[in-house]
Amino acid sequence: MTTSTTDGSTGSQITVLGLGDMGSAIAKTFVERGYRTTVWNRTASKAAPLVEAGATAAETAAEAVAASPLVVVCLLDSTAVDQVLASVESAVAGKVLVNVTSGSPAQARENERWAKEHGAEYIDGKIMGDPPYVGTDHIMFPFSGSTKAYEANESTLKELGGIAYHGEDAGAAAVEFMAQVAFAYELIIGFLHVLKLVEAEGFDVEEFTERAGGSLVHFPSLLSSMAKAVKTGEYGPDLGSLNVQAALMNDMISHRASVGVEALRMREVKDLMDRRIAAGHGDQGFSSLFELLPPKK
Ligand code: NAP
Repeated sequence: MTTSTTDGSTGSQITVLGLGDMGSAIAKTFVERGYRTTVWNRTASKAAPLVEAGATAAETAAEAVAASPLVVVCLLDSTAVDQVLASVESAVAGKVLVNVTSGSPAQARENERWAKEHGAEYIDGKIMGDPPYVGTDHIMFPFSGSTKAYEANESTLKELGGIAYHGEDAGAAAVEFMAQVAFAYELIIGFLHVLKLVEAEGFDVEEFTERAGGSLVHFPSLLSSMAKAVKTGEYGPDLGSLNVQAALMNDMISHRASVGVEALRMREVKDLMDRRIAAGHGDQGFSSLFELLPPKK
C-alpha cells in the first residue's frame, strides 16, 4: 500500500535501494526521523541493523519499490543502477525515483528517459560529503530533474542534509558534482606541489599552510570577478597585466628547477601567457587565459 497526498507529495513512506555505507546512512536517517522506511539490498544481511532500528526489509527490489511512493536509489555505480532498475520494471510506475548514485550527466539523463518510459518521475542527486554526515548541515546534495516531483518532496529530501535544486535537466546535478569535485582536486594537487617547494627549501609545511590559509579569504571575490570576466569576455588586468606576470613566471620556473621541484603547471601557465601576449593581449589579466583553453568558442 502506498500513500499519495493531495499536494502531490509522497507522504512519509520511503524506500531505500542499496544499503552500502551511504545507503545505510540514508535509510537510518529516514527511520530516525519517523518515516516508514522499506529497505532492500542485494546482500540481504546488510538490512539487519536497519530492521532492528525500525525499517522493513523487502525480499526483492521490486517489492521494495512497490512499498513506497518515493524511492531512493543509492548503489555503487550506474551499472548496478541499470541492473537493479531492470529487475524492478513495472513496479516503478507512478513512483518518484531519486537516484543519488554517483554517475555522469549522460547517465542521469538516460535514467530519466528510462523512468519516463516506465511511468515514473525522476530526480537525480549527487552526494558531496561522507556517510556519518547524512542528516546534518555538513553534507550537500545537489538535485535536478522533475521540478514537480522535487517541489512535492523537498521537505523529505531536506532530511538528508543541505540540498539545492539545479533545474529540470536531470544531468545538471551531476554537472555541479563533477565541477565541484574537479575544483577541489585542481586546487589540492597545486597545494601539494607548493608544499614540495616549501619542504625542498627546508621550511615547515604546517606553519606555511597556516599563513597561506589566511590569504584564502581573498579568493571568493577574485573568483567572482574572474568568472564575470570569462562570461562577458571583458578581461581587465586581474592579478596584474600578463606582460608583468609572465616575467614573474620565469622566476617561479627557474626557482623550482633550482630545488628540483616539478614546474609542470607553471610552464603551462607561462606558455598560455606567452601565446596571449604574442596575440596582442599583454595588457589583459590572468582570466584572459581562458580564451586559449580548449574547446575554443
Ligand atoms: P558501498 O558501501 O560500496 O555500497 C555499494 C552498494 O551497491 C551496496 O549496497 C552493494 O550491494 C550495491 N551494489 C553494487 N553492485 C551491485 C549490483 N550489481 N546489483 C545490486 N547492488 C549492487 O558504497 P557506498 O559508500 O554506499 O556508495 C554508494 C554511492 O554513494 C556511490 O555511488 C558512491 O560514489 C556515493 N558516495 C559515497 C560516499 C562515501 O563516502 N561512502 C560519498 C559520496 C558519494 P552489496 O551490499 O550486495 O554489495
